[in-house]
Amino acid sequence: MSISQNLAQIQQQIESLSAQFQRENVRLLAVSKTKPVSAIEEAIQAGQKAFGENYVQEGVEKIAYFNQQADLEWHFIGPLQSNKTKLVAAHFDWIQTVDRLKIAQRLSEQRPAGKAPLNVLIQINISDEASKSGIAPEEMLPLAKEIALLPNLKLRGLMAIPKPEHEPAQQKIALGKMQQLFNRLQTEFEGIDTLSMGMSDDMAAAIECGSTMVRIGTAVFGARDYGVKAE
Ligand SMILES: *Cc1c(COP(=O)(O)O)cnc(C)c1O
Repeated sequence: MSISQNLAQIQQQIESLSAQFQRENVRLLAVSKTKPVSAIEEAIQAGQKAFGENYVQEGVEKIAYFNQQADLEWHFIGPLQSNKTKLVAAHFDWIQTVDRLKIAQRLSEQRPAGKAPLNVLIQINISDEASKSGIAPEEMLPLAKEIALLPNLKLRGLMAIPKPEHEPAQQKIALGKMQQLFNRLQTEFEGIDTLSMGMSDDMAAAIECGSTMVRIGTAVFGARDYGVKAE
């Protein structure tokens, strides 16, 4: 199937799941990491506007390539080291993986004057995996309070990559915890509207648990070939 057919099929799934679980405004983030600009171009032709990238340099090159298309939205969704914050601050519209105040402070300081504030999601390590990035749930409010004070960032919500589970009932344990944290954040702060969770295998459970943004790569663009990508 072509990229445009894949997108149409996923949008259809999102619509029917949204109807089933009485959800509105669930967005699709097309994860384009390792994919060439020709593939992104095809997705744009099909009406897709929001793209997710994991690697700073690769993302910045793509953003520069599509520079003219002002209504595209670029999300940084990979782990970020503090020596690369400047490029993210200068080029991306969103970062979904903030899990340290130091990174947030640098992003705010380095956001160029004249650009809209950088939209921020706090990443939660919801399955408590030692190897994963993200903060523990109890660190959410203290970090959110600090981020809310930074002038060039706009706190929009939460992101998680739960430990993969096959059964929806198992998936919903972590996803349900995220829903509760998101509700809590919404009661404490203005403008919290984005809960980024759900990939191909847990999209249904994620939408049931209130996800507002599902992140899909392979089902849109096909399998990735990491052999061509050195980073
Ligand atoms: C790669 C990636 C995705 C998409 O994964 P697929 O399995 O290709 O759909 C979603 N979220 C994050 C954070 C990713 O790094």
